[in-house]
Amino acid sequence: MSERGTTIAIIGAGFSGALLAVHLLDRCRRTDRILLVERNSQFGRGVAYATGNPHHLLNVRAGNMSAFPDQPGHFVQWLEANRSTLTAFLPDGPAGRDSFVPRRIYGSYIQDLIGDRIWRQGKAMNLQLIHDAAVRLDAVEGGGFAMQVDGGRSYRVDAAVLALGNFPPGCDVPAGPAYAPDPWAPNALDGLDREADVILVGTGLTAVDVVISLLDRGHRGTIHAISRRGLLPRAHAPVPAPIPSLTPDTAPGRLSALVRTVRQAVRAAEADLSTRGHGGGWRAVIDGLRPMTQPLWQGLAAEEKRRFLRHLRPWWDSHRHRMAPDVADRIADARARGQLLIRAMRIRARHVTPDRVAFDLIPRGGGAVERILAARAIDCTGPGSDLACTPEPLLAGLFARGAIRADALALGLDVDTDLRVISADGMANRRLAALGPLTKGVFWESTAVPDIRNQVAALARSLAGELME
Ligand SMILES: Cc1cc2nc3c(=O)[nH]c(=O)nc-3n(C[C@H](O)[C@H](O)[C@H](O)COP(=O)(O)OP(=O)(O)OC[C@H]3O[C@@H](n4cnc5c(N)ncnc54)[C@H](O)[C@@H]3O)c2cc1C
Repeated sequence: MSERGTTIAIIGAGFSGALLAVHLLDRCRRTDRILLVERNSQFGRGVAYATGNPHHLLNVRAGNMSAFPDQPGHFVQWLEANRSTLTAFLPDGPAGRDSFVPRRIYGSYIQDLIGDRIWRQGKAMNLQLIHDAAVRLDAVEGGGFAMQVDGGRSYRVDAAVLALGNFPPGCDVPAGPAYAPDPWAPNALDGLDREADVILVGTGLTAVDVVISLLDRGHRGTIHAISRRGLLPRAHAPVPAPIPSLTPDTAPGRLSALVRTVRQAVRAAEADLSTRGHGGGWRAVIDGLRPMTQPLWQGLAAEEKRRFLRHLRPWWDSHRHRMAPDVADRIADARARGQLLIRAMRIRARHVTPDRVAFDLIPRGGGAVERILAARAIDCTGPGSDLACTPEPLLAGLFARGAIRADALALGLDVDTDLRVISADGMANRRLAALGPLTKGVFWESTAVPDIRNQVAALARSLAGELME
């Protein structure tokens, strides 16, 4: 292998795939090749950082968004170094480590990391950008895969990494132009009458983004955002320092005991904040859990994880995934004006016609069924996770052939601790890895930059160690 070099395909060039390419380019030999495959035209941006809307902000402070775990100030330094070219995108002046910058800028940062390897570090010969969708991956004799892309070409690779992001919405998606199953699709709001009522299914950060987009395009109609508990993400606030309430040694293995410990820490932190004006209250406790979340999750039995998903997930999500303060202000204003209604309701039935939708909803806690009519419903519930009905041909094929399987909670793919994909027969495949949101069931925290950058660095180390030496 060393004579002809190793070829690794990275499928998906959002944050995860693009950053893995950067790490592998840093480690590769002259003869190694990285194929970075992306079906969209914008390599390095993925779903989160492709938005052109300058009011779609990062929901993590700039100081925590470095692409490299061992260089925590890297993104902030990049912002500073590129200050003059970014002025147009940062109307409020230079961005410091506590600022929430437009997500588009973050995409430019990732693109610049790739550009740096190509243009300044002379790695152009080691990287092939393939603008196409990978649709099939077949194991070949002697190890490795034949990767087929939608355009028909096939590439022989020694190893492949699935960096596909979240599953697309899967089963049971209503059809029709009045129902937008993908809130990120460029046409999700096309042709929408500004005075019309809109239904957002979901009240998390995705719904918040869609509300901001609607307000930016001058929407005046009522926006009904519905979810079972009607919980909106909380807002970020200045946080002095995370409070570590647990350590690996003191963490209880049972969910109920864990919740008790965290609640006690929250009560103490809130008391400290209200009586002495000291500390960051509950936010500091949640942030203090962050470095512990993966081991805590992995220490829980499968049934405990299921209980968490059934009963606690909405509360965790709304406290953990918070809104930037400017975004929170606009959401609060839209609610105060009565334009944005957050409803705690369960969907009983959806009727979709070509030009309108009717939702029959049952209020939380019971009561009469309420019907809401709207010109458009936008699905903001987040990704599908059922491999058995994924519309993604690459995953569907791998699943049908038993090359991948769902994790125990059916939130994504089953992988081992080295991110190697586990097949239907329970064997980890050293030549096939997955990272990012696809691995959420195994790690729980694997969907945001601070966690993915660790995964990427570790995977690059092990792939290079096994295949590029
Ligand atoms: C709206 C939004 C805002 C977010 N904001 C933040 C934030 O502020 N801070 C933070 O830390 N995290 C944030 N996140 C979390 C985000 O998921 C991660 O930060 C990160 O962007 C995930 O990147 P990814 O590459 O794993 O997935 P994605 O960004 O989804 O990228 C996957 C890529 O794979 C491509 N692809 C999929 N299938 C194929 C195929 N078969 N062939 C070729 N290409 C394919 C897709 O086109 C896509 O470009 C946000 C997420 C969203 C959705």
